[in-house]
Amino acid sequence: MHVYYADHFVLPLPQGHRFPMAKYGLLRQRLDGLPGVSLAEALPATDGELALAHTPAYIAAVRNGTLSAAAQREIGFPWSPAMAERARRSVGATVQACRIAMAGDGLAANIAGGTHHAYADKGSGFCVFNDSAVAARLMQAEHARRQRPAGVLRVAIIDLDVHQGNGTASIFARDESVFTLSLHGARNFPFRKEPSDLDVELPDGCADAEYLEALEQALNELERRFDPGLIIYLAGADPHEGDRLGRLKISYDGLEARDRRVMDWAWQRRVPLAFSMAGGYGTDIETTLTVQTNTYRVALDYHARWQRSRT
Ligand SMILES: [Zn+2]
Repeated sequence: MHVYYADHFVLPLPQGHRFPMAKYGLLRQRLDGLPGVSLAEALPATDGELALAHTPAYIAAVRNGTLSAAAQREIGFPWSPAMAERARRSVGATVQACRIAMAGDGLAANIAGGTHHAYADKGSGFCVFNDSAVAARLMQAEHARRQRPAGVLRVAIIDLDVHQGNGTASIFARDESVFTLSLHGARNFPFRKEPSDLDVELPDGCADAEYLEALEQALNELERRFDPGLIIYLAGADPHEGDRLGRLKISYDGLEARDRRVMDWAWQRRVPLAFSMAGGYGTDIETTLTVQTNTYRVALDYHARWQRSRT
């Protein structure tokens, strides 16, 4: 299974910064030892690719380092050339994962990404560019070139990070070819949410049974309303009970069952799926890494099914 990374483009953060940047490198080390994982460096997304989901003025401000102090505060990272490069690579990783999943691999991943708080014209909440949005639009463009005059590629973005996918919802608000589903904590960031095609709000302290039932109902509704040709899955680790920002009480088993349900849903319909890690802020970083490694184990299982079905 192809997995794309950009963690070696190190974004310099002030001492004591609350974002756990080290988790990406640690996750890559873990995956390096997993049989069936093929790691590759992500290519940077170009300005033209970013412009499929972002305004030229915002892309230029990130490229040239002219983001205002307020804009940098809203993102949560100080601007640096490395910050801009890393943001581009993280988009590129999701693009490459989508492309190879659609080319017949069935599943592929970005070791980072899931930067769903980024809007067309601004970043927010540790998100500079919206990798899912750029990748969805780019896959639609590539599909249109290949398949013309066949219909538009329909993309479902299944966002199970504990925080609402407000940027993604905003970018696709008037786009019926992309279905945005967000299952998130009602009382968590962002406090002003944007309407997705389907929002499911969870109470503080929500545990496995309620969470998995909410997911089941959401997938049923997705089934009734949309027929995707590609799924982009944000497998956030932050609903875990050991997360310091999540406010939910989902266990390791609960999150593994969640990942399996989403990947099984895609497999049953033979819809290619690309996934990204999105958030994870374990009080102990080990808990986040365990959740994420479990996601990869489940994905490898489904990836193997795809490969068997090709022969
Ligand atoms: Zn999150």
